Parts: sequence; C-alpha cells; structure tokens
Amino acid sequence: METEKSPPLKMVMQCITFDWTIVDADVLLCVAAGDCVLMRPADSDKPPYVARVEKIEADHRNNVKVRVRWYYRPEESIGGRRQFHGAKELFLSDHYDVQSAHTIEGKCTVHSFKNYTKLENVGAEDYFCRFEYKAATGGFTPDRVAVYCKCEMPYNPDDLMVQCEGCKDWFHPSCMGMTIEEAKKLDHFLCSDCSSDVDAKRSLNTFSVSPSVEAKVEPKRRKR
Ligand SMILES: [Zn+2]
Ligand SMILES: [Zn+2]
Repeated sequence: METEKSPPLKMVMQCITFDWTIVDADVLLCVAAGDCVLMRPADSDKPPYVARVEKIEADHRNNVKVRVRWYYRPEESIGGRRQFHGAKELFLSDHYDVQSAHTIEGKCTVHSFKNYTKLENVGAEDYFCRFEYKAATGGFTPDRVAVYCKCEMPYNPDDLMVQCEGCKDWFHPSCMGMTIEEAKKLDHFLCSDCSSDVDAKRSLNTFSVSPSVEAKVEPKRRKR
C-alpha cells in the first residue's frame, strides 16, 4: 500500500531537477516553481485556496512537498471584502506554508491588475492581484491607490465605468444618475462638473470676447 501511494522514483527525480508531474486520475498536471495553483481546502464547501509555488521538494520518504506563498481572498483578509474589490481579486500575502503536493487541484493564472483589465474573456482560472498583504497586521502595499468618480473609490474592474471627455476621470453610471444600459448607449460623456464648466465657459466666452473690455485693458498692462 505504501509503495502505491508514493510517487515513482522517476517522478521524484523530475521534481528535483525540473518540476513535478502529478498523475491525478485523468489529468496530467505539470507544476513548477513560480506557478500559481489551486489547493484543495480541508472544508470542501469552501472555494480552493490559491497559492504561488515557491519550491518543490521530496523528503527522504519520497513525499513531494510544495513550499507555497498564499494568496488571500478579500474575505479572508482582516479588513474583509470592500466595495472596490473585484470578484477575482487576490492579495499576495507574506504567509508561507509547506503543503503536500497532493492538495494541488489545478493551475490558475494570477494577472497583474493592468493585464486583467485588458482580458477579453475572464475564465474561471483567471485572477488578478494589485496588493501585497501582511497577514499579521492586515496592511496592504501599496497602501494608497488612485480613486475615481464622485464617490472617490478605487477602481473595481467588475464595475462598468464611463470616462468623461473633459476631465478624463472615470465614473460609475449609478453615481451620475444613469443606468448601466443608458451608459452603454452613450457615444460621448461629460461628468456633471465638466458639463457645468462648459456652460460656465460659454458664458465666460461671450463676456470676454466683448471688444470694448479687451481693447481697453491690454494697452494699459503693456505700459507698466
Ligand atoms: Zn462612483
Ligand atoms: Zn469631467
């Protein structure tokens, strides 16, 4: 029984030199250091844990172990899930662990925030990470990010935003009193501040182009 459970010697050799191949029922999985993996949680009702493989090694009994660096889901963090956290958001933690390679369920991709927002289709195995996370304190790096819209929230890539052609800021349709359907139909968008600026400039322009004002003011300034 014991020999059946242990990976064959050839595989362990592979693990030490290159990577390790797990023959799991009908899937063949090749995992190397640097790969992001889904790991089976003890509680099967929970979603899989996500980790980055740092090192793969076999002990003297040929049990293959993986040293991992955990990704935390927002709900697993001290601060909890916030409104701007995306559904596929993960935090790269400073929490390391050693796990049996058998808990690896599959591989996944953890994209940079920028690359994630450029994905045409987000698959089940696609995640993104924009923060590093200190598990002991709940602190994030970076601890400040750009905020958008009137509500001054960081960007949640799951939420549709429209860009103002005036100030180039991004806005949630709901914060601008629009539905998402209405926002999708827009060809041009000016936020409430910029559209009131346009009105202000129009009235300013009609005032300043008045020749009587400009002609009199300009020569006086030059004389000084
Ligand atoms: Zn908003
Ligand atoms: Zn604007």
